[in-house]
Amino acid sequence: MPTARTRVVREAHRGVYDRETVYRILDEGLVCHVGFIAEGQPFVIPTSYGRKDASLYIHGSAASRMLRQMKDGAPVCVTVTLLDGLVLARSVFNHSMNYRSVVILGRATLVDDPEEKLTALRVLSEHILPGRWADARQPNERELKQTSVLRVPIEEFSAKVRTGPPIDDEEDYSFPTWAGVLPLEMRAGAPINDSKLDPGREAPLYAKRYTRPRRFSELA
Ligand SMILES: Cc1cc2nc3c(=O)[nH]c(=O)nc-3n(C[C@H](O)[C@H](O)[C@H](O)COP(=O)(O)OP(=O)(O)OC[C@H]3O[C@@H](n4cnc5c(N)ncnc54)[C@H](O)[C@@H]3O)c2cc1C
Repeated sequence: MPTARTRVVREAHRGVYDRETVYRILDEGLVCHVGFIAEGQPFVIPTSYGRKDASLYIHGSAASRMLRQMKDGAPVCVTVTLLDGLVLARSVFNHSMNYRSVVILGRATLVDDPEEKLTALRVLSEHILPGRWADARQPNERELKQTSVLRVPIEEFSAKVRTGPPIDDEEDYSFPTWAGVLPLEMRAGAPINDSKLDPGREAPLYAKRYTRPRRFSELA
């Protein structure tokens, strides 16, 4: 159930509060935006993340403002947005977007248990590019020390989902213009070899076949 803070107000029927939907959106997203206030100034910082069960993990330089603020237990708002299409209505007013988004409110805690820290970093890596963690050199002591990992509990959250065609005012359906949905999706291009790559080394399949899953089939 939503809390007083996470209840979607406008277009309330688009609010979704079940974990399953929220997890699917989080698992498909690549970037979250972390909002926090430091010295009276709001910041909203884009960053990568990973999810394990009801924990969202964020990592970064131990020196970054975002990580420093968050580890001190400051309230945060984490948002993930998937853009699925542009919705072209007959009237300018009724144009919209099809999207799936999640908002999580809470406080972060520093992950200092070395085992959980390494697991969180693997979760983050596998979230972005499954298969890469095992194929790359593992982090050493120095690198681990320079990296902070934070856990945001997925406890107070909401999702909002818009799907489907434009919704015009009845009298506008006869207006002579095109209306419909322009679907948008994230697609990977062909891998580009690093110039220092050993000759003859091919891009792995997990790079060649990279896709983000699209689990909602009824997006148009
Ligand atoms: C790609 C995209 C484009 C959008 N374009 C517009 C636009 O042009 N104009 C506009 O007014 N709105 C737009 N929205 C919707 C916007 O995100 C808010 O939902 C909207 O401003 C209504 O907020 P509210 O006043 O009802 O709720 P608020 O009072 O702002 O929020 C109350 C609670 O509802 C939940 N909530 C609100 N919005 C979302 C959301 N999107 N996803 C998950 N939880 C949410 C949060 O938990 C929040 O704490 C867009 C959303 C997306 C994803």
